[in-house]
Amino acid sequence: MPSSHQGERIVLASNNPGKVREIEQLLSTQRITVLPQSKFGVSSIEENGLTFVENAILKARHAAQCSGLPAIADDSGIEVDALGGAPGIYSARFAGPQCNDQDNNQKLLDALATIADTDRTARFQCLMVYMRNAADPTPIICQGTWEGQILTTPRGTNGFGYDPLFWVPEFCCSSAELDPETKNRLSHRGRALRQLLAALSH
Ligand code: IMP
Repeated sequence: MPSSHQGERIVLASNNPGKVREIEQLLSTQRITVLPQSKFGVSSIEENGLTFVENAILKARHAAQCSGLPAIADDSGIEVDALGGAPGIYSARFAGPQCNDQDNNQKLLDALATIADTDRTARFQCLMVYMRNAADPTPIICQGTWEGQILTTPRGTNGFGYDPLFWVPEFCCSSAELDPETKNRLSHRGRALRQLLAALSH
């Protein structure tokens, strides 16, 4: 991190406790202070973009506007090949607007009920955006991808979202069975955030 960013206060444009926990941990060794947008009373906004990158920019711009600070936003989701890439940008609300992680996981299992193990390939995507201010015309945009497969029954209790259903072949476990450090090392979010830190240090 260059001197220009050291000691900087940045707002994190997310109200998702799982994401906030992971991003705070990933940034814990950096000399910047990342403040969740809840500290500024920033509400969630409608994510009406058609791409991860549009949604990430919408969230970062809103958080920067409300807080007056530079903002980091992550828009992420899971793409399942047998479903033509769904739920993708709709991952958080796959089972409906008021659904929770368990509802989404059940809907995914039901949708894949007849799909053979070999065809259950999937990946997490994360678009991480940094905006210096709400009017920043050149946001820094980074992307991380994590390849895996969808299990037939949930495993593990760590993480959040689809982690209990996401099989990590190289570790022979689900991402909800990985300890947080290992997940951050492998994950779409960890990869995107490390790229972002490298970009900020130039
Ligand atoms: P959004 O980026 O807030 O629109 O929502 C992303 C959604 O994708 C989350 O609510 C989860 O359902 C899913 N997701 C994103 N990253 C992860 C992850 O690391 N583990 C499990 N689920 C994830």
